[in-house]
Amino acid sequence: MTALLQVRGLSKAFGGVQAVRAVDFDLKPGELLAMIGPNGAGKSTCFNLINGQLQPDAGSVRLAGEEMIGLTPRRIWRLGVGRTFQIAAAFASMSVRENVQMVLIAHHRRLRALLPSAAALYRDEAMALLEQVGMAGQAERACGILAYGDIKRVELALALAAAPRMLLMDEPTAGMAPAERKALMALTASIVRERGIAVLFTEHDMDVVFGHADRIMVLDRGQKIAEGEPEAVRADPQVQASYLGS
Ligand code: ADP
Ligand code: MG
Repeated sequence: MTALLQVRGLSKAFGGVQAVRAVDFDLKPGELLAMIGPNGAGKSTCFNLINGQLQPDAGSVRLAGEEMIGLTPRRIWRLGVGRTFQIAAAFASMSVRENVQMVLIAHHRRLRALLPSAAALYRDEAMALLEQVGMAGQAERACGILAYGDIKRVELALALAAAPRMLLMDEPTAGMAPAERKALMALTASIVRERGIAVLFTEHDMDVVFGHADRIMVLDRGQKIAEGEPEAVRADPQVQASYLGS
């Protein structure tokens, strides 16, 4: 199958630290690919190179064949590379529904110019998204007063509101209790599979990784040391030695 995302020779150093070195991988349409590796392995740097927050020293990132290196984060987002955003303090006083509507409006910006009352049009779409993530019952509450796990659900709805072709999720369940992180990841997996959205994600909980990933790649000191289906990666001696630790 043709890759949706094609990463080749991706490299980035910070001063003397080679954070990412010549990383290659493909993400296929609709696939859930986990990137794992110890702290400092270069996972977040990879994500930030793909989403445009950082510029690489070398390498290529193509989305459906189109080079994205050099494009702004906003342009990359508009091309369909979604990511989870933390809800900014400025939006904390707005309701959950209004936050989702804002993203819907930003995504359909041409319509906004034509229709001053566009916000109302997106109410139903926002509510449908909130229904999917289990937050419809709290749609009118201010984001700022939500429980931590509920904020994570709203952040998922915000990411989906931009109708992404793929999602970058760097530790989407960070800070959650084990049961909660399993539930959020199961919800995320079922939604993206239903919509055919490809996902590249990092996650510390190996139960979550092995439970949901179609494929896993392992980074160690900036380098890809293994890649494959979960059982093959679990059995890889180099992965056992450097990371899974058994
Ligand atoms: P991971 O997400 O896998 O924990 P990171 O990509 O955050 O790893 O970090 C990879 C390496 O790059 C680490 O050694 C880290 O200290 C370094 N690093 C990351 N971001 C920066 C930065 N902005 N400035 C300097 N060093 C950085
Ligand atoms: Mg990280």
